[in-house]
Amino acid sequence: MLYFYIFIFLFGLAIGSFINCLVHRMEKEESSLFKGSYCPKCRHKLAWFDLIPLLSFVLLKGKCRYCQKEISFQYPIVELVAGILFVLVFFNFGYSLLSVFYFFLIFSLLSIFLFDLKFSIIPDKIIFPSIFAVLIFYLIFFLKDANFSAEILFNFFLAAILASLFFFTIYFFSKGKAMGFGDVKLGFLLGLIFGLPKIILVLWLAFIIGGPFAIFLIFLKKKTLKSEIALGPFLIIASFIIIFLGNKILSFFYF
Ligand SMILES: [Zn+2]
Repeated sequence: MLYFYIFIFLFGLAIGSFINCLVHRMEKEESSLFKGSYCPKCRHKLAWFDLIPLLSFVLLKGKCRYCQKEISFQYPIVELVAGILFVLVFFNFGYSLLSVFYFFLIFSLLSIFLFDLKFSIIPDKIIFPSIFAVLIFYLIFFLKDANFSAEILFNFFLAAILASLFFFTIYFFSKGKAMGFGDVKLGFLLGLIFGLPKIILVLWLAFIIGGPFAIFLIFLKKKTLKSEIALGPFLIIASFIIIFLGNKILSFFYF
């Protein structure tokens, strides 16, 4: 069993490494994901032993082997977070199709998180394929699992529409100043993933976490009241919490 957890952790690290690469190349509009990796600073081609998740960063003491410039902490952090989340998924959902579904969600949401954090854009290239993939998963659940009824499916669609309407209202009345249209699309994806009432928990938690953080940034004068603070990353942090603790929090409300 322990070996299996180690395997899942390593698998998560590899997916984290892939997310780093994906986000970097999507921003640069590079078409091929399979072209060899290179250092973003000196563009020297990297060997396989420079690309081992986590380990290479530690052994190289966070510096490029070729130009000695510092490697961003983003790389090992994203790898580690993916590794830990994958282990948590397996711990909570075991050998099941649900685990595969959550592995996929972590890959998708963590990619959106990183892209939004770095470039303040929620990319269509991740959002639309993710919505499509979630629908495919639901189709499989619907066909395979008798408990996954048409009402449940309807609930997910309803939540997707309500969540995107909620964001669209804010987007519309703030004329796109309070949040971007990307959040409307992200709202649809998250509603589809969580359904009612869990999507309300996600939104509530995102504002709870994001609010004090925004005030803190305004206090530090890094942002003004007028500047837009990306909500996307907070929605995704809240989503990860609700994936693992949603049922516990809900049972608290229902006694
Ligand atoms: Zn370099």
